Amino acid sequence: METTDAFAGLECVDCGATVDAAESHRCPDCGGSLDPTYDYDAIDLDRETLADRPFDSQWRYAELLPFSRESAVTTSEGATPLVDCPDLADELGVERVLIKDDGRNPTGSSTDRGASVAVTAAAEHGASDVALPSTGNGGQAVAAYAARAGLDAHAYLPSRSGFTNKAMVNVHGGDMNVVGGRFGDAVGAFEEGLDEHDDWYSLRAFDTPYRHEGAKTLFYEIAEQLEWTVPDAICYPTGAGVGIVGLAKAAAEFRELGLIDELPALYAAQASGCAPIVEALEDGRDEHEPVERPDTICGELEVPDPAASRRVLEAVRDTDGGGVATDDPDILEAAVQVAQAAGLEMIPSAAAAASGAWALAEQSAFDGDETVVIVNIGSGNKEADVLRSHLMGQGV
Ligand SMILES: [Zn+2]
Repeated sequence: METTDAFAGLECVDCGATVDAAESHRCPDCGGSLDPTYDYDAIDLDRETLADRPFDSQWRYAELLPFSRESAVTTSEGATPLVDCPDLADELGVERVLIKDDGRNPTGSSTDRGASVAVTAAAEHGASDVALPSTGNGGQAVAAYAARAGLDAHAYLPSRSGFTNKAMVNVHGGDMNVVGGRFGDAVGAFEEGLDEHDDWYSLRAFDTPYRHEGAKTLFYEIAEQLEWTVPDAICYPTGAGVGIVGLAKAAAEFRELGLIDELPALYAAQASGCAPIVEALEDGRDEHEPVERPDTICGELEVPDPAASRRVLEAVRDTDGGGVATDDPDILEAAVQVAQAAGLEMIPSAAAAASGAWALAEQSAFDGDETVVIVNIGSGNKEADVLRSHLMGQGV
């Protein structure tokens, strides 16, 4: 397996065991999820070096990823714009609001970042087939990268996933399994499939160490795009927690390398109909309690039993951030407001971060001089029907 110079191997986040990178998934000792580790002293990366590189893909940060740009399965994901939204800043009563528009990724979502790194790992490990349960975007992204790598992809999506996600898994040549019910049912069907096929390589979030690893690059870009000032707050729509775990690790790494001085406050934004992280924060717990009857229009956020909740809660607490949950009508309204005030297109799940920022402002979480980044995890035209039907409900 070809890896980058500073990549040291894997570490179990549960028991702390050091695990060789040849291990592809969970900790052989305790079954915990694994995290890539690096010898940071061996990484020679400064602001000038980065400034000299084209802003063209997440692989410009390859020193901080396990695999080289040459071996990467990539379609130039990442390098998405950070768009100033002055009207939204006025509305929120803060200095600046910027939307990190990750909907402009190859398959229209942030999951492309982790899918690229994780499919690269699968190819390096000699996999023939990759498989995952997904709320939607992850399935589409993995199908795309598997296709590029010449691997077969098996995606399990709940029937309620968006049409675009399901259609594009097929278009990429993936094996699309639509499972009746909700995400938990898709997970069950995926686990049965995995049991039946010894040669399937799991790309389920946190089964593979590499999806949350790929998610790191979103923060690297934000720091660089803000010319090395750290935003006061980042609102991130949170389902399984891949994104926010990646953000927290990336911020800690940039601080370790001396590229930034502070950490941004990370806010996990959820929908009230499925908010296990926010509820755990409110109750002061270290772990979530599964949501028994999840129900939200935000399909990407309908993850009632997020396996990595401990890490998400740690990320939020370690950065003095928080959690915020808002109702579906407010979330849809926020998507429309962003579309009309800023001209940007968010899927409803992403708009939970905008709606969450509004709610935080109402709770006086901001003083007025903050820079707030809202992450758009998915392109609005994936779910234009849902956004449009909200307008219809208003009689437009
Ligand atoms: Zn372990």
